[in-house]
Amino acid sequence: MVPNKLQQLPRFPLAHLPTPLEPLHRLSAHLKGPQLFIKRDDQTGLGLGGNKTRKLEFLVGEAIARGADTLITAGAAQSNHCRQTAAAAARAGLRCELVLGGNPTAVPEGNLLLDELFGAVVHWSGPERRGETLDAVAAGLRASGLNPYVIPYGGSNPTGAAGYANALVELTQQTDAQSLRIDAIVFPSSSGGTQAGLLAGAVITGFKGRIIGVGIDKREEGAVPLADEVRSLAQQTLGLITGGGVKLTHDVDVDQSYQGAGYGIVGNLEREAIKLLARTEGILVDPVYTGRAMGGLLDLIRQKRFQNDQNVLFWHTGGTPALFAYARDLMT
Ligand SMILES: *Cc1c(COP(=O)(O)O)cnc(C)c1O
Repeated sequence: MVPNKLQQLPRFPLAHLPTPLEPLHRLSAHLKGPQLFIKRDDQTGLGLGGNKTRKLEFLVGEAIARGADTLITAGAAQSNHCRQTAAAAARAGLRCELVLGGNPTAVPEGNLLLDELFGAVVHWSGPERRGETLDAVAAGLRASGLNPYVIPYGGSNPTGAAGYANALVELTQQTDAQSLRIDAIVFPSSSGGTQAGLLAGAVITGFKGRIIGVGIDKREEGAVPLADEVRSLAQQTLGLITGGGVKLTHDVDVDQSYQGAGYGIVGNLEREAIKLLARTEGILVDPVYTGRAMGGLLDLIRQKRFQNDQNVLFWHTGGTPALFAYARDLMT
């Protein structure tokens, strides 16, 4: 293990760790491909769980260290990140303000219902769902005498991504204890913090398997490619946790072939993946992120992109509260 400062970073405990690492026996047999495993970060425990809870342990730790009284962040109306931030704020005794894309709805569903239950204040930002107005809302809070800590879209800065470097340390402890070799990890990648953290974690743990992010969002014409954003965030995260002077060991592997009709639009890929995993394993994936990434994994397996003697881990990043808000799309 490369010497690192993960244990010295400010941290506020929120997650039930380690999350389970389980074999997917019935799904593997059904597909007749590689041996499949799942890392259950849908079971991180805070407010129905998900990957943002690992990031929030470090982000909330930093917020408290800076004397903040309010967490503020942004996302889509069905943002899992915002829901977990609202729950984390409640647990830490902080206020929470969310800037959500879209417009007010009469009856809040899915994650939005939970934001309300956790007591978050919601600001609607119309078509902008990636935090474009976050700074303006934060400035307003400062003007009213509050001390907000701004968490970027997806919690994806080096502090948040440290949570996933730490998650790879946790995974390698589990696999070492079982003498299990993981040849590839597959998961959804959107704001890039999960992938960046895993890449930084690979450097400190010496993890050799592939780290394949399934891109969830269509990027706008001319926007920085996700892989470039991930590379730079991974390098910064590595800097934060090692003090610098260490290089990444992996290329950034982002597969952008599974975006269908766009962010949050459920197609056959997601529907089939959700039902197959539910019916072979009794495990739920979500309509926006993990359903899409699992659909991508199923397609990669059908294309024989893995060998049958390989071990492939699906990293479940959560999101299942959104299932209920997508009932109509899942029943067709
Ligand atoms: C946010 C989210 C992701 C994407 O993680 P990033 O770190 O933003 O790339 C994947 N799955 C779920 C369920 C999420 O909520």
